[in-house]
Amino acid sequence: MLQQTQVKTVIPYFNRWLSDYPDWNKLASASEQSVLKSWEGLGYYSRARNLHRLAKIIVEEFEGELPSSIEALLKLPGIGRYTAGAIASLAFNRSASLVDGNVIRLFSRLYACRDNVAHPHIIEQFWQLADNLLPKKDFGIHNESLMELGALICTPNNPQCTICPLQSICQGKKSPELYPNKERVQSEKRTEKIALIQKNNKFKLIQGSGRQQGFWLFPTFDPQRMIWNKSLGKIKYGFTKYTIEMNYGECEFKANQSMTGNWIPLKRLHAIPLPQAHRKIVNSLERPLNQNPVSSN
Ligand code: SF4
Repeated sequence: MLQQTQVKTVIPYFNRWLSDYPDWNKLASASEQSVLKSWEGLGYYSRARNLHRLAKIIVEEFEGELPSSIEALLKLPGIGRYTAGAIASLAFNRSASLVDGNVIRLFSRLYACRDNVAHPHIIEQFWQLADNLLPKKDFGIHNESLMELGALICTPNNPQCTICPLQSICQGKKSPELYPNKERVQSEKRTEKIALIQKNNKFKLIQGSGRQQGFWLFPTFDPQRMIWNKSLGKIKYGFTKYTIEMNYGECEFKANQSMTGNWIPLKRLHAIPLPQAHRKIVNSLERPLNQNPVSSN
């Protein structure tokens, strides 16, 4: 949950998740819809889907116990090198290294390394360094210490060098702001048009696919099949390297046109999983539509 997401955002989700799914069995037997609903608002839904798939594998193939070796962990869905290292060392105290953004910053400054950390081969060197620095015991404590030092002392801005336990060996402390060297990645702008089509007090929604599988969505405006009657608003959000401007408006199908999907009343939209941007559309619609007979279902 904490990947790409701040701690304060995650806490209520984490508590609710543990209450809904206190063990692998509960998660494995839950429907995908309810798992996505529990995750709704956190974004990057592949994490929820992978956890769900993982729970089924743990129950079916590992008798309900997460394996502890890096090799076995890396074969499981959603578990990459960092997560495998974190689970193996923090949960099982196995000899495994890990590198995250905090460790990269810490190492860059400690060794005054100006190599561009946007390049995978540089990150690979950090992994080798992390392996070399592993102690003979207390692997979890060691890894946690590196991450916490990066998160709390060797912070991106205004690192607290005067109280840092590594200041006597740090080669970058005179100009910590120079490290790490990151290549700037420009975000690309994209625009989308989303069609809100009503019939008999219900909205047309379609099922998502790919990263939006399991969700319901308002359809994308298709000028071949639809008429754009009125713009209702716009929502901006970021996704990976894109800044997306989503314009939504009242639409209708052209004569003899339709599309697959379901007609769903507004109230029901609160009970089904929607991507965050589409949830914002529903919330923005609610007040005017509540004063309108169209929304009374
Ligand atoms: S001395 Fe300063 S720059 Fe060096 S590791 Fe410690 S906090 Fe980071």
